Amino acid sequence: DLMNKIHIVSNRLPISIKQDDDHFSFTPSVGGLATGMRSIYKDFGGQWIGWSGIPSDDLEPQQIAQIDEKLTDERCQAVHLSAEEINLYYEGFSNDVIWPLFHYFTQHIEYNPDYWEAYQAVNRKFADKVVAVANPGDTIWVHDYQLLLVPQMIREKLPDVTIGFFLHIPFPSFEVFRILPWRKELIEGMLGADLLGFHTYDYERHFFSSVRRLLGYEVSFNQIHLENRIVLGDAFPMGIDYAKFKGKASEVFRKSLPEKSELHKELEKYFLMAPDRKLILSIDRLDYTKGIPNRIRAFEYFLEKYPEYRNRVTLIMLVVPSRAEVEQYKLLKSEIDELVGRINGRFGRINYTPIWYFYRSLPFENLIELYSSCDVALVTPVRDGMNLVAKEYIASRINQTGVMVISEMAGVAKELGEAIIINPNNEPEIAEALHQALNMPLEEQRERMATLQQRISRYDVFKWASEFVESLKKVQTLQQNFL
Ligand code: UDP
Repeated sequence: DLMNKIHIVSNRLPISIKQDDDHFSFTPSVGGLATGMRSIYKDFGGQWIGWSGIPSDDLEPQQIAQIDEKLTDERCQAVHLSAEEINLYYEGFSNDVIWPLFHYFTQHIEYNPDYWEAYQAVNRKFADKVVAVANPGDTIWVHDYQLLLVPQMIREKLPDVTIGFFLHIPFPSFEVFRILPWRKELIEGMLGADLLGFHTYDYERHFFSSVRRLLGYEVSFNQIHLENRIVLGDAFPMGIDYAKFKGKASEVFRKSLPEKSELHKELEKYFLMAPDRKLILSIDRLDYTKGIPNRIRAFEYFLEKYPEYRNRVTLIMLVVPSRAEVEQYKLLKSEIDELVGRINGRFGRINYTPIWYFYRSLPFENLIELYSSCDVALVTPVRDGMNLVAKEYIASRINQTGVMVISEMAGVAKELGEAIIINPNNEPEIAEALHQALNMPLEEQRERMATLQQRISRYDVFKWASEFVESLKKVQTLQQNFL
């Protein structure tokens, strides 16, 4: 059993490749998925199958061979995709059909049959690559919404493997999922797996309900009974590398003033000007699911309703650029720019800017400085599969103060009972939550934060990965008993 390998399949490889003329440089990725899979990849000796990140039409055959050779040394197998395939399968079907549908933004769906054709063809390419490297008895862990058809496509050609699939975004209610013309095909694709993982029990229930209503299979407890096998569904809320955030936060916390970064010095200066000042933090990728405009409007409403907080509460808003060439995202960017301008124009003073707005990404150390300097984290997505930013804020609170305000529409809210939970569409409610957060006695903050930290540190990203692998082992036994 230990001899068998676990292969990982995801849209992107855990290595990013940069091209300068004829030279390629390879850097390991530090994203959540790469971190979570680190031990699985090391301990189980499998291959990682994914897109290289470079359109294949930009490459000569000998360059492709050069990349493949280097990746093979790292136990990675590249799926090479043309610019057109990327455009239709990734930008198109994944990001303009599945992403809006699964996040309940049905008005943003582009029903383009070419997208669907390309999605099937590219999923087939991924599956073929898996079939070429895997052996009977191996285990395959497929990730995320770009690859929903891959489990079924692998199983058709390689029936004697165990397949796990994890969905990193929400699974919507059946009433939303049914809107899609290709709804049955997506469900059938996923049912090629033996184990289906979701962030929350709600997403799992939504999936079961779609299985029942679209395909008529019987679901009992968390098992789906197909004609010849069982598929298990379960919730595995993804965690973070808690020790890494805590470690860096303690390091930043211990630094003397001259050692501190420019950003950190500026943050401290803000408090020196008036000790009763407070900072509220929000960090997200630019995306319509993140609820950025409603957050800004709620902050405006807060300053209107509680004028005593003008001049002494600032919202630091970090928005990380994403898909900036897409119309929908451009519109969102303008809307945010305009709202920030309006509020800063309305409530700003010579020595006071209500919103400090950064449209960029920040180095890890600066991120930690923001997390550890802000009194309140305001996380208000209208839909979010999990939301790791919330967990990162909690992990970075070395002195255990700080208040978390979290949207009930984020998967993470299920794990944050001690946070202040709000409906992101209810701006007065968000304003009240801010008022409550800014007035919370230190002792209460510490009590809540300690519990949150205990929970989030225990179920970190490594625990998440190992629990999923444990369940894969259980499902192997289950299938054997079934036969
Ligand atoms: N993040 C980053 N660069 C930044 C700001 C944030 O890489 O400048 C990271 C952040 O630490 C977090 C991730 O981006 O791990 C966002 O994850 P989340 O689950 O909150 O949202 P997603 O973007 O995956 O929808």
